[in-house]
Amino acid sequence: MASFTLHGIPVSRGIAIGRAHKLAPAALDVKHYLVAEEHLEAEVTRLRQALAQVHKELQTLWNELPKDAPTELGAFIDVHALILSDPMISEAPLDIIRARHYNAEWALLTQIDELSAQFDEIEDPYLRERKADIQQVAERVLKVLMGTEQILPAAAGGDDEFQAQMIIVAHDISPADMLQFRDRSFIGFVTDVGGQNSHTAIVARSLDIPAAVGMSGASTLIEQDDWLIIDGDAGVVIANPSALVLEQYRERQGAAARARKKLNKLKKTPAITKDGTEITLLANIELPDDCPAAMEAGANGVGLFRSEFLFMGRNSRIPSEDEQFEQYKKAVVAMKGRPVTIRTLDIGADKPLDQSEHTALNPALGLRAIRYCLAEPQIFLTQLRAILRASAFGKVKILIPMLAHAFEIDQSLAMIAQAKAELREAKVKFDDTVPVGAMIEIPAAALSLPMFVKRMDFLSIGTNDLIQYTLAIDRVDYEVAHLYNPLHPAVLQLISMTIAAGHKAGIDVAVCGEMAGDVKLTRLLLGMGLREFSMHPAQLLSVKQEILNSDLARIVPQTRKIMRSMEPAAIADAVEQLQLM
Ligand code: PEP
Ligand code: MG
Repeated sequence: MASFTLHGIPVSRGIAIGRAHKLAPAALDVKHYLVAEEHLEAEVTRLRQALAQVHKELQTLWNELPKDAPTELGAFIDVHALILSDPMISEAPLDIIRARHYNAEWALLTQIDELSAQFDEIEDPYLRERKADIQQVAERVLKVLMGTEQILPAAAGGDDEFQAQMIIVAHDISPADMLQFRDRSFIGFVTDVGGQNSHTAIVARSLDIPAAVGMSGASTLIEQDDWLIIDGDAGVVIANPSALVLEQYRERQGAAARARKKLNKLKKTPAITKDGTEITLLANIELPDDCPAAMEAGANGVGLFRSEFLFMGRNSRIPSEDEQFEQYKKAVVAMKGRPVTIRTLDIGADKPLDQSEHTALNPALGLRAIRYCLAEPQIFLTQLRAILRASAFGKVKILIPMLAHAFEIDQSLAMIAQAKAELREAKVKFDDTVPVGAMIEIPAAALSLPMFVKRMDFLSIGTNDLIQYTLAIDRVDYEVAHLYNPLHPAVLQLISMTIAAGHKAGIDVAVCGEMAGDVKLTRLLLGMGLREFSMHPAQLLSVKQEILNSDLARIVPQTRKIMRSMEPAAIADAVEQLQLM
């Protein structure tokens, strides 16, 4: 097997060494997980029974055809029955379950995808059209499978060597799909497209699994079961590496593991700079289940709970007030009195409610986040009531995303007041003093800060979107990923202005975008006056170590110099110097 190297965008640090598992686009619509060795035959039976049931259904359809039904209808059913009996459908997916440990749905769709690709190459248009029949048959089987009990996924970290080595290779993975991998049965991700701060990348980082995106051509060049090394720090993937290269990367993997172990000693150490300034380190979470990791890393609270992840991947079914309340309460209780900042629904752009839904022409500039919530007041009110109810169980803060206009702030505050009035009326307990903050992630917001500090209790800078909107670069588009630069002077000015305005007004300012978790930028942000950093729990201890080694007396003058510069190369240089101070 030929060895080759692909270069893309690093999104989640660390090194993964394992076997490629290619994920067909169609397979992303169903659950996919690995089945433990001892359950393989039960999974094979589950698929066999589903195939048999579809056979029966087709037979019934045939028997019940009215006498005057068009002949094509009968022929149509015959074709489907023939397809179903073909070993390509009735046997090959069973082999995939046994060989690759895929669950039945995934195995079936993997096979369908391979068949579809073969059909695409057929010249005869009649035969080529049979692809649609195959897909319809597969849909019937999937429908039956959905109603049958699923075999449990293989436990993560088990001693099954087979599942300890899986690296997912796909054209793209949506954030909602990425959430499915939370059971951690995979050790890395490679996709053809995607940007460093797309939400898919963010979820990969929160899972703390090495990943690289924007690897143009990866899903076609890499073959199933190829050995892969992902260098998540460099954004490099090496396929079928030589023994020597493998050895080098195993060494680096070992060194990184040792360094992480050393960092664990800092868990209980407060984050204080050398000159005695205390810094608050908060966690970004997608779901309440992330809270134990945040506590384990010693976070001072949750700085960003991306609540939209409770709404995604549910075929547009909005969680009820009670369902939401239970989830918010779960996070609040898990954080044991530490504050939990719940961001209201930031749906839209690369986080649609439903992946199949119609997307706007320019989704990042469209009906996203607070714009969506104000357009759907019932959804917003329901969420606000659920969040407020959770505030009776601990310290809750509400964070509103994507604000740009004064009327959006005022309307949001009015909706919060209405939600409170409704709860009062229903005699439901909540904390009446819940602080309400604004995300500063649109340049217009950073350029009209007096409008915000006058109305809000705190600010949180969303650098991911702030960079996207300041530089007019879609954060999901890998073709412009090289232009996505946190150190652009315009971006730095907007961040610095926001921190300064918050200080002047006496309100807290945090950064909850990905810049907060990047140790290369910790000192720059400290030098700008930032005292609250919110990031994935996995990044927290490295940032803490950097803080412990930082001396503000040295950093602040150098940061001032950086802020006076409009020369990108000089800025990049000076930021590197900061790290050596
Ligand atoms: C941001 O934009 O920086 C942010 C934290 O929000 P999100 O990444 O969810 O858009
Ligand atoms: Mg944002």
